[in-house]
Amino acid sequence: MSAKEERTRRDDVAGYQGYHMTPAEFRRRGYQLVDWVANYMECVEDYPVRSRVQPGDVRAALPEEAPDGPESFDEMIADVDRAILPGITHWQSPGFFAYFPSNTSGPSILGELLSAGLGVQGMLWSTSPACTELETLVMDWVQRMLGLPEGFRSDRGGGGVIQDSASSAVLCAIVAARERATEGAINRDGASGGLTAYASEHVHSSVEKGVRVAGFGETKLRKVSTDRKYAMDVAELERAIEQDREAGLVPAFVCATVGSTSSHAFDPVAAIAEVCRREGIWLHVDAALAGTAAVCPEFRWVHDGLEGADSYCFNPHKWMFTNFDCDCFYVRDRGALVSALSVLPEYLRNAATESGAVIDYRDWQIPLGRRFRALKLWFVIRHYGVEGLRYHVRRHVELAQEFARWVDESEEFERVAPAPLTLVCFRSVKGDEATERIEETVNEGGRVFLTHTKLDDRYVLRLSVGQTWTEHRHVATAWEELRAAAQEV
Ligand code: PLP
Repeated sequence: MSAKEERTRRDDVAGYQGYHMTPAEFRRRGYQLVDWVANYMECVEDYPVRSRVQPGDVRAALPEEAPDGPESFDEMIADVDRAILPGITHWQSPGFFAYFPSNTSGPSILGELLSAGLGVQGMLWSTSPACTELETLVMDWVQRMLGLPEGFRSDRGGGGVIQDSASSAVLCAIVAARERATEGAINRDGASGGLTAYASEHVHSSVEKGVRVAGFGETKLRKVSTDRKYAMDVAELERAIEQDREAGLVPAFVCATVGSTSSHAFDPVAAIAEVCRREGIWLHVDAALAGTAAVCPEFRWVHDGLEGADSYCFNPHKWMFTNFDCDCFYVRDRGALVSALSVLPEYLRNAATESGAVIDYRDWQIPLGRRFRALKLWFVIRHYGVEGLRYHVRRHVELAQEFARWVDESEEFERVAPAPLTLVCFRSVKGDEATERIEETVNEGGRVFLTHTKLDDRYVLRLSVGQTWTEHRHVATAWEELRAAAQEV
């Protein structure tokens, strides 16, 4: 339909609908867009995985000014095909092995659509009771599904909340730790005090950002050295805490990582928890990627020692077929978190809050407003069932383990870190320059995409399995391409 015809249609209903998309039109366009997304799922493998555009190309392909009058949906979709798709790096391609998975699935996308359709703002229980109660229920389901400590359940004084990201989760954990360490003094008076935080040198950058934002100051984050498996050295942690106490500082927060971003290292949580218990320090465990593995009983070891943690998070938006954004954040004692983040202006007062019988999740996060994210996770869990999730997690682990074996048996490559789950770190036996050239050649080919890190100052390739549609043949293609590129260097 032309833009002119669409305008005429709008005129027909003007006065009531004005320029809005009518429900009838939404229905038609909605079916069209769902078809588009389903086609995308079917064909995503055919696109070069990494976008090939140059800086500025996408903007240059689009008008500089916003349109004066309405444009048709057909024109919009045509522009998506022409100008947007070339600028997409296809995270949903089964050849995507870069960074970490950010996977999605049909039930998740439909849950997201429903959430947008309902358009709920779930800041308080009373602004949409179902938004809060479904979230609490789903978080309690997940606690059981992953075998997390019972203390994280909503009926045990703790509880779970869905955050937008692991970065927000760790920031909430840091402000809760700050609240506990200063008995609320920082919130009241704003004095930053001499609070210190600790994490391994391989901790995710979000912790560094969190301690900045929470006012500790980044020089107060102690990066504890690691052992040969890139896991935190607990004796070093103890020494750092002792030195800080001697200097009159206040150790307040430790972050242990299970499945670090760079190499998938596992910090020894039980030993770290023991130190934190003795010292009265808040322990947060970041399992952003690896946490999903615990849905399988044989991988529950990823959470060894977690019962000693004060807070924990993992990302269904990485490896549980739930599209970004969806981070599950748990605390053992919700008191410190709520006390750190609760501000109650008159315009939000309501009888349910006053009764104390409900959860108001605005007090469990930094922003006031919140989306109905539980819907998509609820849809995913119900669609797959625990059994379906286990099946796919096991499949991904098997694929990565097979790739690790190929690396170990090859003459061209060597493995440089343990690969207990889905991330394999390896390099060319010819050194850094060769490894970097292999990476570039493979990525330019377009069928697969992988990225690198540095471990012990050496350039290292990372193959991260976990995209929803990845099968054996995609991992085999990655291996063929790597070996072919290795012949050329
Ligand atoms: N923690 C770890 C271990 C990660 O691998 C990542 C991923 O980038 C993050 C935190 C940050 O996750 P998010 O993007 O949800 O903030």
